[in-house]
Amino acid sequence: MSTLIETLEASLRDDGTEIRLSARVKELERLAVASPDARRPVETVSGTGTAGLADGSRTTGTSSEAGTAGLSGGAGAIGPAGVRGAEGAYRLRLADGATLDADAVLFALPAFATAPLLAPHSDVGALEAIRYVSVANVVFAYEDERKFNHKLDGSGFLVPHSEGRTITASTWTSSKWKHTAPEGKRLIRCYVGWAGDESGVELTDEEMSAAVKRDLRELMGLAAEPAFVEITRLRHSMPQYPVGHVDRIAAFRAGLAERLPGVLATGHAFGGVGLPDCVEQGREAAEQLLALRA
Ligand SMILES: Cc1cc2nc3c(=O)[nH]c(=O)nc-3n(C[C@H](O)[C@H](O)[C@H](O)COP(=O)(O)OP(=O)(O)OC[C@H]3O[C@@H](n4cnc5c(N)ncnc54)[C@H](O)[C@@H]3O)c2cc1C
Repeated sequence: MSTLIETLEASLRDDGTEIRLSARVKELERLAVASPDARRPVETVSGTGTAGLADGSRTTGTSSEAGTAGLSGGAGAIGPAGVRGAEGAYRLRLADGATLDADAVLFALPAFATAPLLAPHSDVGALEAIRYVSVANVVFAYEDERKFNHKLDGSGFLVPHSEGRTITASTWTSSKWKHTAPEGKRLIRCYVGWAGDESGVELTDEEMSAAVKRDLRELMGLAAEPAFVEITRLRHSMPQYPVGHVDRIAAFRAGLAERLPGVLATGHAFGGVGLPDCVEQGREAAEQLLALRA
């Protein structure tokens, strides 16, 4: 589950807001021109049904898995089903065929997933300009402390690209966070792949493991053999903000607010990739969503 969703959930649930997690959104329609006054009921007459939230509570559609389908309907399009008395300004069509009416929608996806969904409605150039880099995590676990010939008296080290190594950094996980390994065991995590060279990520497990071992031996003098190795490839996981990112994102958000009021976008693609940044952005997004109810 994403960092943002967890933060949002914590902030909004207590307030009585309905949150549906992991809804795979296929399509979003704008049911009516949303008013800045989100309390105004939406009434359209293009259908005969009566849809709405029985208890009058508001729904926040948090799209955390929007899939590859784009938004459709165009800005200002009216959904095929009539909504009379419902308070949602948007209708999300989910992959399982269900629909969800919402007066606010928050996209908390990678930029490359959000962009095609919003492209029919708003300028998403700022999102398309964010390149994502693939990286791999390589975890080595060591069992026999008698054969482990390093003190791990620190939290790890960074490797300048000019060194020409496979790893870009190493975290001495069991020293940095004691709870991550049982007494007497050691855990080391290394990172492969960076913006200038992602080829290391495509090495086979055997090749990657051997290259990382070689780096640790030559950089740390570590001769111990790990009891087990875990490799995780995280493709297109590290956003690289281009020069001008802050201004372009501000312009993107202004355009979004104008064309799709109540539709927000946030996450690691916007205001920082670190977990504290993402948690903070989650809180900010929650406040913006709550402000719509004020
Ligand atoms: C290898 C690595 C190591 C890191 N280490 C640290 C660290 O030590 N400290 C730190 O502070 N930060 C670290 N970060 C950064 C931090 O983990 C992320 O920036 C943060 O988790 C992003 O949170 P988020 O909620 O914005 O996005 P995510 O948690 O990435 O959530 C995005 C959501 O979108 C969904 N999604 C993805 N693609 C699609 C798609 N095509 N369609 C629909 N849904 C999709 C995903 O399933 C996910 O639920 C690290 C990141 C990486 C990749």
